[in-house]
Amino acid sequence: MATDYIVGIDLGTTNSLVAYMQGDSPVVIPGEDGLSLVPSVVALDEKNQIIVGNAARKYLIETPERAVYSVKRLMGRGVEDIQQELKFFPFRLADDMQAGEVLRIKVGDRTYTPPEISAHILRQLKRNAERFFGGPVTRAVVTVPAYFNDAQRQATKDAGRIAGLDVLRLVNEPTAASLAYGLDKKKNGIIAVYDLGGGTFDISILKLHDGIFEVIATNGDTHLGGDDIDNLLIMIALDDIQGDLKLDVRRNGEAVARIRKAVIEAKIALSSQPFTKLDVELPGGQRYQREITREAFEELIAPVIQRTVAPSTQALKDSGLKPEQIDEVVLVGGSTRIPKVRQLVEKLFGRTPHIDLNPDEVVALGAAVQAHILGGGSDITKEMLLLDVTPLSLGIEVAGGVTDKIILRNSTVPASATQHYTTQVDGQTNVAIHVLQGERELARDCRSLARFDLKGIPPMVAGIPRIEVKFLIDANGILQVSAREQRSGQEAQIEVQPSYGLTDEQVESMLLESYDYAEEDFRQRQVIEARHEAETILGALAKGKKNQAWRNLSSDERRHIETLERALVTVKEGGDYHAIRKGIDVLNEATTHLAEMMMDTAVSTALKGKTMDESDLGEGPQTGHPVGKAEFE
Ligand code: ADP
Ligand code: MG
Repeated sequence: MATDYIVGIDLGTTNSLVAYMQGDSPVVIPGEDGLSLVPSVVALDEKNQIIVGNAARKYLIETPERAVYSVKRLMGRGVEDIQQELKFFPFRLADDMQAGEVLRIKVGDRTYTPPEISAHILRQLKRNAERFFGGPVTRAVVTVPAYFNDAQRQATKDAGRIAGLDVLRLVNEPTAASLAYGLDKKKNGIIAVYDLGGGTFDISILKLHDGIFEVIATNGDTHLGGDDIDNLLIMIALDDIQGDLKLDVRRNGEAVARIRKAVIEAKIALSSQPFTKLDVELPGGQRYQREITREAFEELIAPVIQRTVAPSTQALKDSGLKPEQIDEVVLVGGSTRIPKVRQLVEKLFGRTPHIDLNPDEVVALGAAVQAHILGGGSDITKEMLLLDVTPLSLGIEVAGGVTDKIILRNSTVPASATQHYTTQVDGQTNVAIHVLQGERELARDCRSLARFDLKGIPPMVAGIPRIEVKFLIDANGILQVSAREQRSGQEAQIEVQPSYGLTDEQVESMLLESYDYAEEDFRQRQVIEARHEAETILGALAKGKKNQAWRNLSSDERRHIETLERALVTVKEGGDYHAIRKGIDVLNEATTHLAEMMMDTAVSTALKGKTMDESDLGEGPQTGHPVGKAEFE
């Protein structure tokens, strides 16, 4: 069999799969055990060897401290983001974890980052595919939830790289599911993708125009899925066991694990038959049995599936569409095999959902379709272009040498985005626009793409000009940047070619760097931003002291403000951003009264957008990088 296939991978929270294009249709690739679904579980065995998938599941029960599941929840996230997850999942973080650091999870006596754990899952899928093809597999398309942010997407790509896979494209899961059904061939329409998996519920509304998918709304619940159904059944079993067998096994991990296995089997059986039998052998040798009818099951789970209604309605509302405007409904996720769930979806959207493909395979199948298109297997070259994404973020340098991203990497092109800025200095007539590419926080660490000046802004008080910077990438990947001062109508623009001449290796090393330096960058950025804010408030105070309002303050008040002013000037030079922020806060508070008294005079004139008299202008430089508008509002 020919090798060098580009495979499609669904890297799921509960299960992962790999698929490829066989002739005209995508098919999933089985593992050695004949099963294509690889549970997203990674464990360390007694010899500290990594075990993945079905074989790893027994470690979840026997030595839970040596196994990890649901790691997708931690991808691209920091300690501060995952407090909620820690309440639900027994993730054990490395003991020496610091805020702002890439997470490290304890497995046995080792620690791994989430991308490393995901890489083990990807490696398993890669091995399955290589065994199947009898040759190497090095390139893949990997799917991610539509709501994944830049960091989560990057972490997914990192996982691919660690696994030795060149991730050619990240595709949104709902887009992949639609591709699997060939909905792109319809060219236009609105698609609702309802995805109820193991532990997450996602609803996405996609707009298909000329064969391009655009995600117009997403919603969901990150803690809702088949696991909730399992837990309800487990509760019932535990109550029964306590009542009938006079046994309390709630704290017996092994017993609960066996019950979990049995209830999942029962749940799956009930999707295709009217009743089933729960049968569990408890660790002490006693046996628990119970019959469950589909009717009783449906009644039990009604509240769980009902929880998908509000997010679905909200997504529809956000998309500005009515249910009757939805053309197609696609079901994704193993839990949509439950007949009651299908009925609910049909009622929600007034459409019979597509069910021809296996809901737990459909995302991987769609990834295989996309892989095929990328590999040139499809002759619709136009489509390939249109489905393209920007490999790196694009933005501009703002005051303090910081990068402000305007279009995030992996955005589908064509793309456009607009941000608003203002000036930093009174009377500033020129604004320097420095266009940057890259993921780093500081401008000097990013790739400089172009520079131009927006000139001829009429002199105004700092913070008053309204500078709109617009980025537009066309389908050929050509970037156009324009800047316009909206009060005066002054404008300037430039065209740049962002990825021209940039090799994959460069992109790779930039990504690696951003990974290595993320933490240090973040700290430096915090200091720079705090310093910048300190300068702004000190500048405003200096101006305020020339105002009549200053002389109207009591001498005590003036002395108090000046003490805090001196303190801020001192800490501002240091590298401790906490101290700077504190200094800003106290000075801000102490000057509230002054600011209020000044409101009627100079500031209010300025706020009306009047240009300044030459005599009012500061003596600072007349040109500089823009600053975020929010800081002045
Ligand atoms: P994820 O996208 O979260 O990785 P999947 O789409 O693979 O997850 O869905 C896994 C969930 O689907 C599990 O809770 C599993 O028990 C459930 N599931 C799988 N098959 C069935 C079935 N026939 N009936 C009901 N639930 C099912
Ligand atoms: Mg899924």
